Amino acid sequence: MKTSDFLIRHECPQCGAPAELAETDRLFQCGYCKVRSCLVQKDFFRYVIPQNAENEDIFYVPYWRLKGAVFSCFSDGIRERFADLSHRAVESSDFPISLGFRTQALKLQFLSPETTGHFFKPTLRVETAINCFNDESSKKPVLYQEFIGETVSVIYAPFYLKEEKLYDAVLNKPYPSAPVCFEKEKESKPDWRIRFIAALCPNCGWDLQGWRNSLMLHCLNCNCIWHTGEQGLTKPDFATIPADWEDAAWLPFWRIRADVSEIRLDSYADLIRVANLPQVASKQNSDMRFYFWTPAFKVQPQSFLRFAHNMTVYQPQDELAHELPKGTIYPVTLPDTQAIQSLKIHLAGFIKPKKMLEEKLRKIEITHRQSLLVYVPFQNTHHELIQPDITMSVHKNLLAAAKNL
Ligand SMILES: [Zn+2]
Ligand SMILES: [Zn+2]
Repeated sequence: MKTSDFLIRHECPQCGAPAELAETDRLFQCGYCKVRSCLVQKDFFRYVIPQNAENEDIFYVPYWRLKGAVFSCFSDGIRERFADLSHRAVESSDFPISLGFRTQALKLQFLSPETTGHFFKPTLRVETAINCFNDESSKKPVLYQEFIGETVSVIYAPFYLKEEKLYDAVLNKPYPSAPVCFEKEKESKPDWRIRFIAALCPNCGWDLQGWRNSLMLHCLNCNCIWHTGEQGLTKPDFATIPADWEDAAWLPFWRIRADVSEIRLDSYADLIRVANLPQVASKQNSDMRFYFWTPAFKVQPQSFLRFAHNMTVYQPQDELAHELPKGTIYPVTLPDTQAIQSLKIHLAGFIKPKKMLEEKLRKIEITHRQSLLVYVPFQNTHHELIQPDITMSVHKNLLAAAKNL
């Protein structure tokens, strides 16, 4: 799986030392002053490709940067594909439709109010850009399709006009396009800047711990976790399934309660019927509430489906502890908003008979009710993490490879 990660040039918010961040970084530690801070953004991360045409009147055109998985449901199953591309976020066809591979070679910067130039407003909805991923290779009708965006951000690419020709302001080369005219679409600068906040526990002031790509940070002093989001640091609910063995490693999952229309899926007994599991639903099963489970970490699409399937069909019933687990804790890299978007795909994965998919999948609506972050224990072997109760194993290479997704 090839992905096109890029680097961002920035300065340490504390001491001003130059720094380079990876696109997936959410926790930054300065190489000079060692101070750690969390990156906080409003809606999307926004980047600028630095221009090389000092004396020209630069205007920036927004591109959607989309990286994630496209899941397509057909009557006979689900097909998944990894997608990694950019798409023009304005309707005007005067500009190239994508950035190609240019972002790989360049170091980007965060957009800031100090960036000079004119800015086009994104007018093409991200959903429209996502539709370019549509799976048209198949003759069969797609019953349902979803893009689970591991990364959705905006990249502004610089251009200028010279003798009615459109120039790329990075290479200073003209585009072979017709004369362009778009004055009226220009807008003032978007009101956006990246924010860094100190990686300190708002409760007790201790240093927060976490992997550099983690959306959640831990305070080992007051035993809680903090989510870095639009509002700064907020405290989500979380729980841990206790381990029966020493040296456990922990993977984060979202346990989601949701209402499903068209079919009855409230209890474990309902799941046994809907998924046609090889067991008879007991009275006790009817009292067990049904939850969807999905990974809270990025992993390649096929494994994402498999882990969600294993956990959801298993329906862990363990008593939950409300404290941080001890041992290796893998980072949360997939927000619950993305997990929620994937529920219908998981449902399509276990519904039986498959004929039901054709009849009902389009009509089914899933309404989210509640998400809980749950750390699930795994036996930490040399190459693999093994969950003995669920008979699920996760290869460590898989997790390492997913680091840049
Ligand atoms: Zn510093
Ligand atoms: Zn604390």
